[in-house]
Amino acid sequence: MVKNAIAVMTSGGDSPGMNAAARAVVRTALFEGIKVYGIYNGYKGMLADDIRELNSRSVSDMIQRGGTFLGTARCKEFKTEEGRQKGLENLRKHDIEGLVIIGGDGSLTGGSLLSRMGMPIVGLPGTIDNDVWGTDYTIGADTAANTAVDAINKLRDTASAHRRIIIVEVMGHTSGWLAVTAAIAGGAEYVIVPEVKYDLDDMCNEIVESYKGGRRYCIIVVAEGACSAIGLGKQVAEKTGIDTRVSILGHIQRGGSPTVEDRIKASMLGERAALAIISGASNVVFGFDEGRVVAINLFDAVNNKKTLDPELVRLASVLR
Ligand code: ADP
Repeated sequence: MVKNAIAVMTSGGDSPGMNAAARAVVRTALFEGIKVYGIYNGYKGMLADDIRELNSRSVSDMIQRGGTFLGTARCKEFKTEEGRQKGLENLRKHDIEGLVIIGGDGSLTGGSLLSRMGMPIVGLPGTIDNDVWGTDYTIGADTAANTAVDAINKLRDTASAHRRIIIVEVMGHTSGWLAVTAAIAGGAEYVIVPEVKYDLDDMCNEIVESYKGGRRYCIIVVAEGACSAIGLGKQVAEKTGIDTRVSILGHIQRGGSPTVEDRIKASMLGERAALAIISGASNVVFGFDEGRVVAINLFDAVNNKKTLDPELVRLASVLR
């Protein structure tokens, strides 16, 4: 049971909703009468002792903002034993008895190593990639998918005006979750993800036939981890003879005001994380399974790879 203080940090790739989660951690802890420290700029800030006490006002005007007010960073030094030791000493200096880490796979892996050194750790999955094992949901994936869908809607308008093929590259790191979600919600004709093989010739032949039948546009969503969108664009243009353009959405998908889903779920997860760490729990990641908050073992979460739901891939191909 925590007596004095906990800390919260965001780490790795930022995602919309991290602020909502951190805000919930801070306000829940204060509600429970426990001090909260913010660790600024991820593990880098932990090693540099960039650790400051937060109050309720520190997280005012935050729920609607993308990014993370705590900042985030990547930190090579934390991957070494000495680096982690330095981080641990800084936490101890502030009498921090437990830490909530909001981040992706890498950040949670770092957390699991810190927990082995005696610091209680609770993780929250914060990534637009939706690739954390054991949870259907990660903080920010919904906002990123909405951003991608908004772009697809706009790209379809211009594709249709010119009878073009547009290839839209979305993020997702090595995972196809974001791509397949955006493709279904955006009504894309094709989606190319790292997890599933595709036949370029078949796709191009189908597109040519559909244009002969009167089609005015074709949207192909490509996950960044699947192939080079530029290279694919060249091949598709050559094989189909149809005017083809490539649009790489890039970092726009990381920013923006979080959706209602991301705000609510991040708030629920933040509260659960704070209560768990205060009650003395460790090595837990909170996520969602079929709409309910669930606790996942931290080591299971970081040692297993989440697979893309084949049902979503099938649905995307049926509905195109
Ligand atoms: P994400 O959390 O979004 O997956 P990264 O993979 O870049 O982002 O990880 C963020 C940070 O977490 C890294 O810069 C590093 O400090 C720490 N980290 C990642 N992997 C490990 C690891 N295997 N051991 C220790 N720390 C790690």
